Amino acid sequence: MFCVILPRLNPPIMRTLQNTSFENKTALIRVDFNVPLNENNEVSDSSRIEAAKPTILHILEQGGSVVLMSHLGRPKGQVKPELSLGHISSEVSNILGVEVNFIDETIGQKAKDACGQISQGEVILLENLRFHAEEEAGDQAFAKQLAELGDIYVNDAFGTAHRAHASTAIIAQFFEQNKCFGFLMEKEITATKKVLEEGEAPVTAIMGGSKVSTKITIIENILPKIDHLIVGGGMTYTFIKALGGSVGNSICEEDKLDLALSILDKAKANNVQVHLPVDVIIADDFSVEANTRVCDVNEIPAGWEGLDAGPATIEQFSQVIADSKTILWNGPVGVFEMSTFAKGTIAIGEAVDTATQAGAFSLVGGGDSVAAVKQFGFDQKVSYVSTGGGAMLESLEGKTLPGIAAILS
Ligand code: AMP
Repeated sequence: MFCVILPRLNPPIMRTLQNTSFENKTALIRVDFNVPLNENNEVSDSSRIEAAKPTILHILEQGGSVVLMSHLGRPKGQVKPELSLGHISSEVSNILGVEVNFIDETIGQKAKDACGQISQGEVILLENLRFHAEEEAGDQAFAKQLAELGDIYVNDAFGTAHRAHASTAIIAQFFEQNKCFGFLMEKEITATKKVLEEGEAPVTAIMGGSKVSTKITIIENILPKIDHLIVGGGMTYTFIKALGGSVGNSICEEDKLDLALSILDKAKANNVQVHLPVDVIIADDFSVEANTRVCDVNEIPAGWEGLDAGPATIEQFSQVIADSKTILWNGPVGVFEMSTFAKGTIAIGEAVDTATQAGAFSLVGGGDSVAAVKQFGFDQKVSYVSTGGGAMLESLEGKTLPGIAAILS
């Protein structure tokens, strides 16, 4: 019998800002400055600029200079003046407390000259990457031209890390060792790892939102890693119908009944306890003014639909959350946008807040979950709120994000 001894492979060291030297170097940073603008082309929500600030200031403090590149909106390869990053330049200056030199080119001689002459402590902001179709196409030549604008490539744009675009992934190959994650990317990667790889038991996933079909890949990926699966929101009714209950007019994916049953089987095989609502708030109309009442989840009458978790459900879910040491929350447990049906989601937020205060690690992310926690002020109370909807969804689905892989390779 042959026995092959394989060399022990050390896990790759994560390239971070802390283990990279920026002294007299120009950092080319991919940031996510895709911020909303009002009718006067002013920034109406600057949280994405604030999120990139620690990375930028760290590099400047370490004796480096900074070239910022980002996309804004969806110009689809066309120059659209209303989507120029020039509109946000003064806001970036205000937030950083450093003058920002906006260059109305992304690649080209002007950009090359400005970046070539940049001095220590200076910041340049390039024009919208997506004015060039080559950006989203992941064009090699375009990525190479961008790469010539800096000495070290830093990716801090988690929101686009799931895209293999020129500035988010393709560019990294031109920097060999001189590339690293920014603080924001590092936080996102660490938070996901804390839940999916290093989560202290009991690990609980709260899955809500409208449809089971959009969450199936996540559920299948996390089942081997969790102890409890709380199912809430619109996807409840596909499970309840599959189990023989009456769901009335509730949102229900008739073609996913077998899928719901197979999730329950897989959960059992993985020793995961599934918690479905026992009672729900039903309404005779999808509106704030609808008539409502509490109803057994299995006995929803025709003409009525379940739009929020009921009181007994809230109590049960809250108990499971209180006993958890690691919590992943993806999706509201009711139609939280309407005040009449927001109580369940607020109660879950309170339970996650209490568990976090008691020492649990809680991550909220993926899709629309962030909107719900922000609306009710829970974003300051959980351990981490992801900044990337689509990117976090793909992380939770177990996919390797091109923007992360490019730095690690
Ligand atoms: P998702 O993007 O899949 O996380 O879904 C979020 C949406 O699910 C929110 O807009 C909620 O209004 C919606 N939702 C939550 N519960 C229900 C429900 N019982 N019926 C219909 N929609 C729901």
